[in-house]
Amino acid sequence: MYQSDTICAIATATAPSGIGIIRVSGPDSIAVCDEIFRTKKKKPLKEAPAYTIHYGFIYDQDQMIDEVLVSVFRAPHSYTAEDSVEINCHGGPFVLQKVLHLLTKHGIRIAEPGEFTKRAFLNGRLDLSEAEAVMDTISAQNEFALNASVKQLRGQLSRCIISLRQEILYEIAFIESALDDPEHISLTGYPEKLSGKIRSILTQVNELIRSYSSGRIRKEGIYTVILGKPNAGKSSLLNFLLGEERAIVTDIAGTTRDVLEEDILLEGMQLHLVDTAGIHESEDQIEQIGVEKALAYAEKADLILYLLDGSDQITKEDRKIATMIQDKKVLVLLNKKDIAQNIPEKEIVELLPRAKAILPVSALSGEGLKELTEKVKELFYQGSLTMNDQIYLTNVRHKDLMEQVRDSLLQVQRSLEDQMPEDFLSIDLMDAYKSLGFIIGEEIDDDLAEEIFSKFCMGK
Ligand code: GDP
Repeated sequence: MYQSDTICAIATATAPSGIGIIRVSGPDSIAVCDEIFRTKKKKPLKEAPAYTIHYGFIYDQDQMIDEVLVSVFRAPHSYTAEDSVEINCHGGPFVLQKVLHLLTKHGIRIAEPGEFTKRAFLNGRLDLSEAEAVMDTISAQNEFALNASVKQLRGQLSRCIISLRQEILYEIAFIESALDDPEHISLTGYPEKLSGKIRSILTQVNELIRSYSSGRIRKEGIYTVILGKPNAGKSSLLNFLLGEERAIVTDIAGTTRDVLEEDILLEGMQLHLVDTAGIHESEDQIEQIGVEKALAYAEKADLILYLLDGSDQITKEDRKIATMIQDKKVLVLLNKKDIAQNIPEKEIVELLPRAKAILPVSALSGEGLKELTEKVKELFYQGSLTMNDQIYLTNVRHKDLMEQVRDSLLQVQRSLEDQMPEDFLSIDLMDAYKSLGFIIGEEIDDDLAEEIFSKFCMGK
């Protein structure tokens, strides 16, 4: 068991609300809470069984601070695996701060961000990928992100990593034993067997690496950049999708000067929308910066919604933008379908031959946006919004480590082809084994743990 002091933090948001919770964890948590908690029953918390909740009052000497409910948890059956207490106060920032301050006066330290979860990890109650999933669950903004993080929290990824590690460890152990005891364990025919095994592990590893692209999109949303000349209807589209008058809509070309970013849910799919300044040749310096910014955003987009004003004509500005987005996933939205149209489809195909679709829409009335939703679903969710059992890597740290696993395994394959001595094989197998271990937090150093947990919020 990891030896620690006792820590406390406000675990709920510090805004006026019904209830606010202060969490206390560590060896002195119950004893210190006894010093500030009074109840009519007169029984101290240290005699309370685990998982019980007690009604009473918090006192600073003779001054009553709040009427509370106090829950008692005992090691190892608590979130941190330590003795813990949760004080349910009234949810005002002032009262919560007062109780927190009182705890510090009794010698309890304010926790660092993520320190409760860090203790859960150090005490072996969660592995690192499960601990990371706690924060992902808190920050989830859509159904898919929540689903992926809860599965990870329940150990779905960990089980997969542990099983891959076991397979690799078996091979390392076999090679080492054979090298130690060649009289009894023969390596004849082993390279062929190992080669088959590595191929099968690599298939799983590559699938996990591939899952990152859609895993990230599921977690963070589809990074969608809206492009088009001024007056094409970009702000109107954003407003329609947001359902409110957020971006300023005017009929003076070039009004949306800066970049607006908003998240929306389309049938549960999260789109991170970026509305850029209209792209056109401009002498105006501010507008020019906007144009460059728009193209820089387009560069990192998962999806580009390219708006054309259907009542207008294709100009050299459109051609300029088109050359820059040829390699991206583009949906052309032929806007203002409610008025007379001037652009034949043939011209759009010539402009963007690899566009995923050309959809006539009206950003003002919303006509055609149902088809847009369907198209996005098809492009990013294989047409179906059901949750499946696939494991998605959603964390870039996991993806980077998985790439290291792949590289080590490819090295094993090369060594097999070159008929290198067996100890070369076991060195690279060991590297793959270790990289997998880092995902679940085996042998990670303190600095990395510090960095990961410092990104957590207070009180978690
Ligand atoms: P932006 O410069 O690309 O952001 O374009 P805006 O959204 O500001 O729209 C420019 C003008 O086109 C405004 O007067 C809008 O009302 C008009 N507009 C936008 N979408 C439509 C549409 O679908 N139909 C019609 N008739 N007008 C539209």
